[in-house]
Amino acid sequence: MRARYDVVVVGGGHNGLTAAAYLARAGRTVLLLEAADHLGGATVSDEVFPGVDARLSRYSYLVSLLPRAVRDELGLPLRLVRRRVQSYTPAPSDPTCGLLVDSGDPAATARSFDAVGAARDLAAWEAFGARTAALAGAVFPTMTGPLPGAREVRAAVGEEWWRDLHAPLGELVERTFSADLVRGVVLTDALIGTFADAHEPTLVQNRCFLYHVIGGGTGDWDVPVGGMGAVSRALADTARAAGAEIRTSARVDALESTRAGVTVHWSDDDGVHRATEGTHVLAGCSPHELERLLGRDVEAPEGSQLKVNMLLRRLPRLRDRGVDPAAAFAGTFHVNEGYEQLATAHREAASGSIPTVPPAEIYCHTLTDPSILGEQLRASGHHTLTLFGLHMPARLFRADPDGARDAALAATLASLDSVLAEPLVDCLASDGEGRPCLDVRTPVDLEQDVHLPGGHIFHRDLQWPWAADDERGTDPARRWGVATREPRVLLCGAGAVRGGGVSAVPGRSAAMALLEA
Ligand SMILES: Cc1cc2nc3c(=O)[nH]c(=O)nc-3n(C[C@H](O)[C@H](O)[C@H](O)COP(=O)(O)OP(=O)(O)OC[C@H]3O[C@@H](n4cnc5c(N)ncnc54)[C@H](O)[C@@H]3O)c2cc1C
Repeated sequence: MRARYDVVVVGGGHNGLTAAAYLARAGRTVLLLEAADHLGGATVSDEVFPGVDARLSRYSYLVSLLPRAVRDELGLPLRLVRRRVQSYTPAPSDPTCGLLVDSGDPAATARSFDAVGAARDLAAWEAFGARTAALAGAVFPTMTGPLPGAREVRAAVGEEWWRDLHAPLGELVERTFSADLVRGVVLTDALIGTFADAHEPTLVQNRCFLYHVIGGGTGDWDVPVGGMGAVSRALADTARAAGAEIRTSARVDALESTRAGVTVHWSDDDGVHRATEGTHVLAGCSPHELERLLGRDVEAPEGSQLKVNMLLRRLPRLRDRGVDPAAAFAGTFHVNEGYEQLATAHREAASGSIPTVPPAEIYCHTLTDPSILGEQLRASGHHTLTLFGLHMPARLFRADPDGARDAALAATLASLDSVLAEPLVDCLASDGEGRPCLDVRTPVDLEQDVHLPGGHIFHRDLQWPWAADDERGTDPARRWGVATREPRVLLCGAGAVRGGGVSAVPGRSAAMALLEA
């Protein structure tokens, strides 16, 4: 090991790996230190069930925000596959029918709007799709340049969007759509990993909505072939090939920043303490963890979701007999995510209770990419199922993590069962020890598993992906949205201005800022 590196990266999530890859390719000496015994952070594939040959995307699962430029510039051998079915939503009032949005068949989508009694919203849905496509086309290309200013973005998106983005999203949703089900489907994009009501004055839901509809310039959420582990593996291989030194089981304990550089105090898996000098440090950990490393105590943010990974012997039958489960589960399957249901669940969770009918969305990876299953499981028709439950804030799990996890799972499975023609547990496969293949992670679990503060999947609440015009400055770290209070320490993880999601944008932005400095 060297005593000094140009750059020390704290954390080997996909963003830390991205920064390491860009900087090593540019000839910088790079050391990356990851606390866990593996790389990837929340972007990993795991053999979650002992003795079962299935590698599931344990945390994040779909890719939308990763710009084509990153794949091209780093030559990443990644395959992302588009899902034909965008979403399926059983009607909250009568789950024997549901709304199937099939991107490949507009006529079938129109018939489905009719079947759920939402025909009057069809034209608005199509117009809204065109509007969000225009928004995506205007905002997403800016993600690979320095932070744009607010005036520039306003001119690009137009006055109508600018106004709509800056009023609570509930107003736009209620003005545009009349059916509760359709309103709910639109609102969910604003609530993934974000604990908010549609009318939240902070607009945190609007920012979440924006990130969920702009990815790739289309808003599509694609399936990574091989699972999320393939994304991190490709980045780690690229970084290593370019000469970055990568150490796992290497926890950074403290940072001492001076004008000349940063001393990084870290320990290896034998608990041996080491100190390494970096001209710069890139923090791929959360801003909350960074503050701790700099010796400051700040309040942690709060995550709000339940993740359930499952392996099934077969897909369950639906109460809606008009839809093939293979179509319904291929896209995003919304469970009890009607507009009023979302509001009720938020109210209940905000007052300290696990929602009575938890809203959730599920998706089956193996319908699009069976490669994550061993041959035998594939041949016998097994499928994975990923459930992302909304409105499950960390505060519900603090006092009794195990009991609350069980209660949240029971309520969530009951919610799911309400739209199925058979109990989900009847379809679950068993692991090597005869236990049902069911892996449940609460925000408190995520805090322990991945060091996500408060279990917040984006490290902190999402920010607008632009800068106020009077705050842009000329300093490269500010220009790229990765500045901290310490001039030699930059953010390179999800907590950067354009953070959150599997995008590699913070990692690339931090690298660009250093290369520009
Ligand atoms: C359940 C879940 C589902 C999600 N679903 C999606 C999805 O489908 N699509 C999507 O785009 N996004 C999704 N996200 C969000 C996305 O996964 C994250 O925003 C993204 O992975 C953040 O990447 P990162 O590299 O910035 O940070 P992380 O992945 O959080 O990695 C940070 C790394 O830093 C390490 N670290 C922390 N502190 C230290 C220290 N002191 N010393 C050394 N190492 C340290 C951690 O161990 C970790 O490996 C999801 C997240 C979760 C949790």
